[in-house]
Amino acid sequence: MKRILTLLLALLTFSAVAQTPSQAPAQPGRITLVIHGGAGTITRKNMTPEKELAYREVLNKALQTGYGILKKGGTSLDAIEATIRVMEDSPLFNAGKGAVFTHEGKNELDASIMDGSNLKAGAIAGVTNIRNPISTARRVMDKSEHVMMMGVGAEAFAKSQNMEIVEPGYFYTESRWQGLQRALQEEKVQLDHTAPAKTETAPLKPTGPKSGGLLDDKIFNEGKKYGTVGCVALDQYGNLAAGTSTGGMTNKRYGRVGDAPIIGAGTYANNATCAVSATGHGEFFIRSVVGYDISALMEYKGLSVKQAADEVVMKKLVQRGGEGGVIALDRNGNFAMPFNSEGMYRGYIRDNGTSEVLIYKD
Ligand code: ASP
Repeated sequence: MKRILTLLLALLTFSAVAQTPSQAPAQPGRITLVIHGGAGTITRKNMTPEKELAYREVLNKALQTGYGILKKGGTSLDAIEATIRVMEDSPLFNAGKGAVFTHEGKNELDASIMDGSNLKAGAIAGVTNIRNPISTARRVMDKSEHVMMMGVGAEAFAKSQNMEIVEPGYFYTESRWQGLQRALQEEKVQLDHTAPAKTETAPLKPTGPKSGGLLDDKIFNEGKKYGTVGCVALDQYGNLAAGTSTGGMTNKRYGRVGDAPIIGAGTYANNATCAVSATGHGEFFIRSVVGYDISALMEYKGLSVKQAADEVVMKKLVQRGGEGGVIALDRNGNFAMPFNSEGMYRGYIRDNGTSEVLIYKD
């Protein structure tokens, strides 16, 4: 009898040890959606009440859009695509309308999406005329044999999939144009969301098409630059997914591509661990394979999603000089939103509808 009891105890201990947090079964019904709208020099000092309200409105609309889909039984992929489209269509974020300009005065967009249930992924890079890059990234995943398409090829594919094609001028916003002019004067590649150093020289006269005239002139009048958008979600079937969309970095050159469309760097999802979307200085995020590293720390070391995301963003990236942040969500609805910059537009919504939008560090 004693031997049987000892055996039972040993078995129980073994299964408890073997079931690390990452392997624990999902608890169905815990739908959760987390978003970011870029990290960088975002401080109360730089903010006006009008601007803050405008950001909060779009971020809340994005959260509610995704939540509505998840609540009705939609998948995490459907929720992510719709949520990111809201932010792509807003001139406030560096994705879709409102994307930053390249050195040559163009908008080149990157996006990716990943399905944590089967590790399928789709990405596009350097596209210039696709209104909602996240939707084309999804088509690459769902309707092609490939993971990543770039430039004219990706644009031709988007057309073949009846994606909305726009004139390149659609992406123009006065604020981003002015941001490029300042960067050209300083002649350096800037993070889209990092405030430029104060310059005594007046900005060059814009030569691009006229501004759409929406919020952009008022909201961005002091030329601060903000960001990339991303979303991670958990649906009622226990499936995780992640997506990211960006215009990259102001004054980027030579077909530069950042981390946003790189699976494992800016975007990663795996039901066994977590879903991650990143924002920040892409070169550092690519070299640190940020999304996959967070997942690997959970898988191999049994860290929680918060421990793993903090380890990568607050330790590894800081040591390497990589500015930015991530949103990361596990299969039980636990999430983390660490960033090592001054602020990050971010928000979440839980199963019961409680939601919050945050901007600053404190
Ligand atoms: N990560 C993006 C890139 O490097 C930029 C951003 O997050 O704002 O292209």
